[in-house]
Amino acid sequence: MAALPPSIISRDEHPVSRKHISPNALKVLYRLENAGFKAYLVGGCIRDLLLGIQPKDFDIATNAHPEQVHKLFSNSRLIGRRFKLVHVLFGREIIEVATFRGSNEDSSAQQQTAEGMLTRDNVYGTIEEDSIRRDFTANALYYSATDFCIYDYCDALTDIKAHSLKLIGEPEERYREDPVRMLRAIRFSEKLNFDIEQKAEQSIHELSHLMSMVAPARLFDEIIKLFVSGYGAAIFERLLDTGLFKALFPSVAHTIDKSQKEHYLSFIRAALINTDKRIAQEKPITPAFLYASLLWPDVHRIWGQKIAEGLSDFPALQQAGHQAIEAQLPHIMIPKRFILMMREIWEMQIRLSKNNTRRAEQLVTHPRFRAGYDFLLLREHAQEILPGLGRWWTKYQADNPLPTNHKPRSNSRKPAPRRRNRRPQKRSD
Ligand code: ATP
Ligand code: MG
Repeated sequence: MAALPPSIISRDEHPVSRKHISPNALKVLYRLENAGFKAYLVGGCIRDLLLGIQPKDFDIATNAHPEQVHKLFSNSRLIGRRFKLVHVLFGREIIEVATFRGSNEDSSAQQQTAEGMLTRDNVYGTIEEDSIRRDFTANALYYSATDFCIYDYCDALTDIKAHSLKLIGEPEERYREDPVRMLRAIRFSEKLNFDIEQKAEQSIHELSHLMSMVAPARLFDEIIKLFVSGYGAAIFERLLDTGLFKALFPSVAHTIDKSQKEHYLSFIRAALINTDKRIAQEKPITPAFLYASLLWPDVHRIWGQKIAEGLSDFPALQQAGHQAIEAQLPHIMIPKRFILMMREIWEMQIRLSKNNTRRAEQLVTHPRFRAGYDFLLLREHAQEILPGLGRWWTKYQADNPLPTNHKPRSNSRKPAPRRRNRRPQKRSD
């Protein structure tokens, strides 16, 4: 697909003002420009500002090569293998700077699998070429902090006004290049209330199986982004409908299909509705709780089987947890620290079932008590277990409030390295 000359929208014709732009992003833009490079804000931040949404991060596109950007900012680091990028760090804020990408198909810097998937893509190009390599038209607008104009190469403004999510180029080809774009389509469609154009929606149903080609490590972050968007419950329905859930969580999907137990679906739905509410109230969310919920149908099914085989409650649950995780890891790489917490949440289900006051005193100070209790309430809500236990624990906590300076007993763990997509506690997508 060839790039067209851009429509240039001048400052008096658009609402994007510097007051809404991160001062750190402006600093990066100006330093790049002063060093003789071209630099623009690009993608989601411009799209969101046009829609009156506060962007969650600011991304920059430039003609400077990653090493040149890195040299200009002592507070930066080079990242990425598949795509080389620079992160410029300002305390907790990270400004991502990407070099314009081109599409020289003969180059060894770009590689594709037989299925059409791009496995390496470090060919640099012009802004025109860069614009057509982006995923959706709405994500391909560039803003210059030098002339304050917006550069539109894909008629993105028309699509944004129409609330239409359009892939740039042929949807099938673009999904084959990078199947994650199917997840992004669903996420943006829910988050922005945009309709995915019909052909692009249809292709998701046809190509959902390609998700198995994506590196499991990359999918962990992408799945978290889906479920901490604030629209996780709606997104889940669309993953079910398109076949993407089956491609991402084959074993859980099989359990749900075969069980004919509506409570498995009800449980995941309840967990995601609960997550959406917590995000709306700016309460903390942990990926471990999300994954503990998403894998629960498998854990619960296997737990029952192990008990039927003669194992006692606790080892049966431990083995069930282990098996459910083993079945999931080839598809999505869940980091070890979260696996540990997931197991604790599951094991808490047995501990909480022994509701005697003497043990309760100990249990309420356990670091995973609160998550385990929330999980228990969801199981009751989904009618997987009879009501009563949850109420007992609710009453126990009301009758025995912890001192206000109480901190749960902590498991000593090293702090995790900072990563851009890892927002461990509060997330606002
Ligand atoms: P948000 O940050 O709200 O999730 P975003 O559009 O900024 O949305 P990012 O993941 O931050 O999404 O990516 C920044 C930009 O990079 C996108 O707007 C898009 O132009 C481009 N981009 C990201 N992922 C892809 C992809 N898989 N294929 C093509 N372009 C992509
Ligand atoms: Mg972004």
